[in-house]
Amino acid sequence: MPRPSRYAPDTLPHPPSWRDDAACTEIDTPVFFSPNRSDIAYVKTVCISCPVRPDCLTHALTHREDYGVWGGLDEDERNTLLRDAHRAAERQRRLQREKERKADATAAA
Ligand code: SF4
Repeated sequence: MPRPSRYAPDTLPHPPSWRDDAACTEIDTPVFFSPNRSDIAYVKTVCISCPVRPDCLTHALTHREDYGVWGGLDEDERNTLLRDAHRAAERQRRLQREKERKADATAAA
């Protein structure tokens, strides 16, 4: 339902989101983006018990969030996860190509 006017206060209900159940709603956002290792360690302890951790991590990976702790992982850990996934996918594609090449060679012989 559209808002009656763009100047009216946004009082209409929002659709449900995984963010509604986040364990970090009461924590200041900047601490999730702090360069301080103790801040990062602290927010990771919050993430451990968060019920929407998989949704949060999926969001960060699909939207390529470059900074901060999302889903219990900092940017370095997410980059490692993505790099490993890319390598696994490339290895899988290479194996598939080799398999197709062998099948073609067998059919031609
Ligand atoms: S996983 Fe961590 S950053 Fe993500 S919503 Fe939960 S507490 Fe917040």
